Amino acid sequence: MNTRFQLPVAVFVVALALVPPFMSDYHVTLLSYIGLYALVALGLVLLTGVGGLTSFGQAAFVGLGAYATAVLTTTAELPAWLEPFANPWGGLLVGLLVTALVAWLLGLLTLRLSGHYLPLGTIAWGISLYFLFGNLAFLGGHTGIGGIPPLVVAGFELRDGRHYYYLIWTVLLAAVWITANLLDSRAGRAIRALKGGAVMAEAMGVDTARAKIVIFVIAALFAALSGWLYAHLQRFVNPTPFGLHIGIEYLFMAVIGGAAHVWGALAGAAVITVLKQWLQGILPQLFGASGNFEVIAFGLLMIVVLHRAREGLWPRLARLVPASGCRPASADFQAEPLARRPVPAPGTPLLEVNDAVKKFGGLVANDRMSLAVAAGEILALIGPNGAGKSTLFNLITGVDPPTSGAVQFLGRRIDGQSSRAIARMGMSRTFQHVRLLPAMSVLENVALGAHMRGKHGVPAAMLHLERAEESRLLAEAARQCERVGLGEHVHDAAGSLPLGKQRIVEIARALAADPCLLLLDEPAAGLRFLEKQSLAELLRQLRAQGMGILLVEHDMEFVMDLADRVVVMEFGKKIAEGLPRDVQSDPAVIEAYLGGVD
Ligand code: ADP
Ligand code: MG
Repeated sequence: MNTRFQLPVAVFVVALALVPPFMSDYHVTLLSYIGLYALVALGLVLLTGVGGLTSFGQAAFVGLGAYATAVLTTTAELPAWLEPFANPWGGLLVGLLVTALVAWLLGLLTLRLSGHYLPLGTIAWGISLYFLFGNLAFLGGHTGIGGIPPLVVAGFELRDGRHYYYLIWTVLLAAVWITANLLDSRAGRAIRALKGGAVMAEAMGVDTARAKIVIFVIAALFAALSGWLYAHLQRFVNPTPFGLHIGIEYLFMAVIGGAAHVWGALAGAAVITVLKQWLQGILPQLFGASGNFEVIAFGLLMIVVLHRAREGLWPRLARLVPASGCRPASADFQAEPLARRPVPAPGTPLLEVNDAVKKFGGLVANDRMSLAVAAGEILALIGPNGAGKSTLFNLITGVDPPTSGAVQFLGRRIDGQSSRAIARMGMSRTFQHVRLLPAMSVLENVALGAHMRGKHGVPAAMLHLERAEESRLLAEAARQCERVGLGEHVHDAAGSLPLGKQRIVEIARALAADPCLLLLDEPAAGLRFLEKQSLAELLRQLRAQGMGILLVEHDMEFVMDLADRVVVMEFGKKIAEGLPRDVQSDPAVIEAYLGGVD
């Protein structure tokens, strides 16, 4: 991926390995705690920063990991079936399993609902688990559980805080590595696509509900792992560190460090932990009373960060590292081409819409609309603003199913099917209001379009075992960028391009899915004359290769030169259909466009 940070990361790791002998016990312990917190914050980077989902309940997952091992390693008489797990490694396994189960269930219940259900669900979960820890006798109540045995790793008993320092940081760096690997992969692009909205992600074939649950479970597992390490470091657990307020502190760490960056988790955990130590020392003296006054300071710090450095501290730190100069040109992405779907012979019926009706309450946005597109044909759909063209696109692509009527694609009924299923069949689209991931590069945005052509999931991505497939996906994306004339922009952030070019990125993304039918919603809007000409040229080429194209466009010259047939809509109804020349002279069309002026 990025060679830019290799040297700083190497220096950092070597420093971590070498400094403990020169530090006091206190500072080594502080670093151990930073590592433990960073592991939890790392989960939140994935969940909140990248996926856009908020959890206040991470401390409760830490508690689950800690208590699982505490109970299993200290209870005198366990049921016989739990005996094999009555050791720290069994505690780890059970803790992770229970955590995964809880997170999965909680995710299942809350993630399909939009809006605030997940944050609220995690708050409820955080509070209830905290009270459970405090009130159940076998969990030691508020006094907690003591006498947790030390870890034994490869026959070596970890008795000293310094041993745990090395273990914690090894685990953390491994977690950073797998998270960074994940984000730099097909599965990671699917996760990052969540922020572009479910409609776009699903149109690329991403199972958004699944992607959300997966990152929620991963974040919870990181938290539980941190809890397991904590329990054996401390040799004692009680409910205090697993309360809701600590859950909020973990969020602070992720946001202040830089919620979308893996190393931001470390920066945030370090800043908050050190600051907390320092503030807990001085604030009670200032106020002349004891209390958790540092929370006020964190709140203020959060406000300042959100005002001054929305992305958190990490991007500012990262700027200190000079950018590396060598970035491969689009032609340098070489790999065996991806398999292609069979191309239907020209003239094969692809899409057929029959009497489609779409009502929004009392408004009939599509009124008994019918049209058909064949392979190797460009059908233009025109009509004044509000005529119902985009609504028809949504109805065809499965975003918003028709109220009545039938849609057939490749001879199969598709109305009522999910947009993901329809996309898989070979229908790709662009959006009238561009839906790209602005911070992601053009190449990665386009590679998202090829999502359905890869198969490796999260585990392979975490270990980077899917590099062969990944280079094929990126090569395909680069090829599509070249094809639409974006070759020199592959590494630019998609959001940095002018709007007209962003529309072209959407076309490249749609093409990366290897569709047989392409739906383009106002692709030429915002393009300059020459750009329009090259777009028309591209669409002609695609048509010659057998692609069916349904095109909504306002530029009449563009449409009339290009389209084989034209369908005209007004007020949700089809008012004309035919060859461009005939439609142009149709009185009803002139009436619709020019308000009756001849
Ligand atoms: P066009 O793309 O031809 O400009 P649209 O399909 O966007 O037109 O809109 C057609 C009509 O349907 C408009 O009156 C619009 O306000 C209405 N409409 C579109 N989407 C919705 C929706 N989700 N809810 C309610 N009304 C909608
Ligand atoms: Mg529209």
